[in-house]
Amino acid sequence: MSIDDVLRHLGIDPAALAPAPPQWSGREASARIAAPPPPCAGCGQPARATTVADVPGHGPRWLDRCRACLLATIDMTPSRMPSTTEEIVADLRAGAVKAGVSLGIAVDQHKGARHG
Ligand SMILES: [Zn+2]
Repeated sequence: MSIDDVLRHLGIDPAALAPAPPQWSGREASARIAAPPPPCAGCGQPARATTVADVPGHGPRWLDRCRACLLATIDMTPSRMPSTTEEIVADLRAGAVKAGVSLGIAVDQHKGARHG
């Protein structure tokens, strides 16, 4: 499944989604759906969850969904969780840059990444 499947299922025009930063945190997502929450991109009800979707041709966009629309598409939504060592290391580096801290990462090809 792709983000296009989610948008098509909910009848969302990707151009109508608010632009989002390429790097974001759970804190930013929580702040976005704090009162007053934005309208659900699918049905207009108050959103209860949000994520950033990399929409082909549009870049990163906030995908705000109410509970019903989230549950209707949760299995279609691509995971943003990194799944390879390279993706995990890239996420850690981006987080360190954003936090303004120095981070050294040693990668053992057999055991994965360790940080300190
Ligand atoms: Zn909805």
